[in-house]
Amino acid sequence: MSAPREPRPSTLAQSLDTIRTIAWMKETARQARAESRVIGFVPTMGALHAGHLSLVERARRDCDPVIASIFVNPKQFGPKEDFAKYPRTLEKDAAKLAAAGVGALFLPEAAEMYPAGFATYVNVEGLSERLEGRTRPGHFCGVTTVVLKLLEIVQPTFAYFGRKDAQQARLITIMARDLNLDTQIVLGPIVREGDGLAMSSRNAYLSAEERRAAAVVQRALAAAGDEVRAGVRDVLRLQEAMQRVLAAEPLARVDYAEIVDAATFEPVLRVARPAYVLLAAYLGRTRLIDNMFIEPVAEGADEFAIQL
Ligand code: AMP
Repeated sequence: MSAPREPRPSTLAQSLDTIRTIAWMKETARQARAESRVIGFVPTMGALHAGHLSLVERARRDCDPVIASIFVNPKQFGPKEDFAKYPRTLEKDAAKLAAAGVGALFLPEAAEMYPAGFATYVNVEGLSERLEGRTRPGHFCGVTTVVLKLLEIVQPTFAYFGRKDAQQARLITIMARDLNLDTQIVLGPIVREGDGLAMSSRNAYLSAEERRAAAVVQRALAAAGDEVRAGVRDVLRLQEAMQRVLAAEPLARVDYAEIVDAATFEPVLRVARPAYVLLAAYLGRTRLIDNMFIEPVAEGADEFAIQL
């Protein structure tokens, strides 16, 4: 069998190797591994912003080469969701990745990722159905399936995910553990706009008025953080603090505001161990998610460190 060839040489960005076929991606990664190089992988859906690029920067510190992927994965969108209108800005993305020092950009085609008769899915039971999974049935099965496929194709040493999507990151970490993947999953912090809004490709959907109002999501989390700093441990009181802030913004409609154990994502009544404060809200028709991570400064300590 002849070696796989990349059929369409890319002109997207100089110094960025653009790879469109699975066979060529596998071969490129195989060559890097054969040279004992440490591959860092940053999977994305494109419309790149500083949040994505922070993961690339983190990967650059640990790895060479850094490989990024852009794939708007149809399997993780519900039938009434925004797959068709999801922002696609490939040329700009390629320039950003090249400038950030990414060596190769994997751009798989949906037809090759999901050929006719595709029938195999991976699902992390339980957690996939709760929180985001309740509002978006099937979403996480689509996410874990595509991430497993990408990790199998690239076989990186490290793969980088944002804490912005905390439940997704936890599911991927569980999947990697359960399936004994060789890849280590690394989480990066949330990158925010100047007014605190977590960066997201979907922020582009917001009208000017919604965009102004959207900062309320982070302010609500910060209010819960202030309560934690003031010694409040009761989850109902933390939820009330968030609701007070959110209620003052008529354009925001809360989907959920939950406080969960950081490992199990089960709701807690009091904060005592590492926990996530998770918030999902609609601004008009756009659904935004954000979160805050809180953990005792030392084991058993009653003082909490807050990462917003
Ligand atoms: P996406 O393109 O939305 O699939 O995101 C690709 C990766 O970037 C995921 O691991 C996200 O969690 C991460 N990410 C998205 N937004 C941010 C952000 N504001 N800060 C940090 N990471 C982010």
